[in-house]
Amino acid sequence: MTYQFSNRVPKTNNDPVGDILKAAADPKVTSFAGGLPAPELFPVEQVKAAADKVLAEKGPAALQYSSAQGVPELRNVVLKRLEVEGIHTTADNVMIATGSQQSIDLTAKMFLDEGSAVIVEDPTYLTAVDVFRSYGAHFVGVDMDEDGMRMDSLEEALKNNPDTRLIYTVPTFQNPTGRTMTLERRKKLVALADKYDVMVLEDNPYGAIRWEGENLPSLRSLDKTGHVIYMGTMSKVFAPGLRIGWVVAEPKLLKKYTMMKQSADLHTDSFSQYVCAQYFTDNDINDHIKRITALYHKREQLMMSAIDKYFPAGVQHSNPQGGMFLWVMVPGVKSSQQLFDAAMKRNVAVVPGDPFYGNQPEPGTFRMNYSNTPEEGIVDGVKQLAAALDEVMSV
Ligand code: PMP
Repeated sequence: MTYQFSNRVPKTNNDPVGDILKAAADPKVTSFAGGLPAPELFPVEQVKAAADKVLAEKGPAALQYSSAQGVPELRNVVLKRLEVEGIHTTADNVMIATGSQQSIDLTAKMFLDEGSAVIVEDPTYLTAVDVFRSYGAHFVGVDMDEDGMRMDSLEEALKNNPDTRLIYTVPTFQNPTGRTMTLERRKKLVALADKYDVMVLEDNPYGAIRWEGENLPSLRSLDKTGHVIYMGTMSKVFAPGLRIGWVVAEPKLLKKYTMMKQSADLHTDSFSQYVCAQYFTDNDINDHIKRITALYHKREQLMMSAIDKYFPAGVQHSNPQGGMFLWVMVPGVKSSQQLFDAAMKRNVAVVPGDPFYGNQPEPGTFRMNYSNTPEEGIVDGVKQLAAALDEVMSV
């Protein structure tokens, strides 16, 4: 049988990231590869209480179909989270999505034709790259430094690509680098979006997990011309398994989102939405976020001090003030895969940098996650990784 697949389907079954995560799941392996929250902090008992209450008080509604835009109780909860980001809006401008992954997919579906340009940070969130690629995007990578996306490089990209449909950015504690865009650059980005009349997709899953530095305003809160679409999620501050995210956009645009969502999956799981809303009503999410932040900070400090002690001279890394990741740059290495193989020989997993680039990868880069590795594994894992780097750098 020869299948007549559409252009959206990947041409090969190569799934390097899937293979890495599978290899990393071996219990012998210390994994800095995945991007998972710490499971020991999931509020299981509180979610159970919320689920019991939902079934007792709103059972039939929670098990019934609901609206594509999302359950009003949950949209009201989301409004409170948005206030923290400096976004003052109404529930009419919010749509619940099945994780922010779906928000990325719907946005790509809405704005991209085959060959449309999408501007991304180089490197960027790899599963967004997969989505944009499936809609035929032409990637335009913009350089980053420790202050996030470079605005000279962005303006150059906008000038050279008049068919740019979207600028996709993770401005705070970016995946994969952990870097944060400065306030000055945020203002500039919003001004450039207006000048070149291009939509911005602001993806902010990690912003609330900050242990150092001042909160910075979201792009959406700085945007006065309706160019920024904002996406949030419960995945990193609460529970990814519930698959709850949200999109904030102007009413005309939100209408399109709800129509597109309806054709994708009718609506996000009603039960999950009610349970989430109930949990937020009965518990203080800020206390929970404080616990998560303290644990990730502790793990990040352990990882950073081990890196500074054991990594060979010349290896550079980002210095995140929050979030779940850091980015490592190893000089003189021709392929990131080489780094991965050397690390796996010593039972340590990281994600090599290549899949985080829309076009040409920067060799010798990789992402490390600290949120999901218990403290006792971190120092030894970093030591083994340091030995792998020594080996690769001396070739
Ligand atoms: N955006 C970014 C930058 C992410 O890191 C992730 C999860 N790793 C997502 C979106 C998707 O998250 P979810 O669908 O669970 O909300």
